[in-house]
Amino acid sequence: MIQLSNIHKTYPMGSVSVPALREISLTIERGEFIAIMGPSGSGKSTLLHILGRLDTPDSGSYKLFGKEVSQLNEDELAFLRGKVFGFVFQQFHLLPRTTALENVALPLLYHFNNNGTSKARRLLEEVGLGARLQHRPNELSGGQQQKVAIARALINDAPIILADEPTGNLDSASEKEIMDILSRLNERGMSIILITHEADIAK
Ligand code: ADP
Repeated sequence: MIQLSNIHKTYPMGSVSVPALREISLTIERGEFIAIMGPSGSGKSTLLHILGRLDTPDSGSYKLFGKEVSQLNEDELAFLRGKVFGFVFQQFHLLPRTTALENVALPLLYHFNNNGTSKARRLLEEVGLGARLQHRPNELSGGQQQKVAIARALINDAPIILADEPTGNLDSASEKEIMDILSRLNERGMSIILITHEADIAK
């Protein structure tokens, strides 16, 4: 499904360049649940951003479903970002002053109608937040906010979830709930690529 070969990425910082990824090669198959581990600064987020096309590598090959990503046109790239990957971040990145229901339905933008809202409601019910639809992020616990973020990542039926330390800001009970949700999604066939620095989460 994903094939990286010799991916290289450096960030320019004034007159020097900071290497983030050096010749990374890896293959990820459909339906896998992958943990990316490594110390802080080892390039985990950079790798995830490159996979989700939030960032581009300097060199190397990235093939997704057999197609070289650097050769996709703008429409294909937009499709890839919106419909192929769902993102979940450590800091949740929900819109403030916006209800849970609206946060989840928002990626549907062009189809913001009853269908979108009822799908968002169903996804929020699925992650256990059926009673919190009208709550804003500051009226939700960290674990609940992360559940909203997961529901949002699912709204476009993306087959791959990219999660950057999704439980990094959560207490251990919420951590377990979030990992249970991700495991259930994986059992249903979703591919999940998750950054963590905790060995038990990776296990
Ligand atoms: P990790 O997620 O493993 O903590 P990162 O991918 O965030 O690692 O960072 C890898 C390296 O790239 C680090 O040395 C970091 O300082 C550097 N880096 C990351 N993002 C940027 C950026 N936008 N500009 C400059 N350097 C960066």
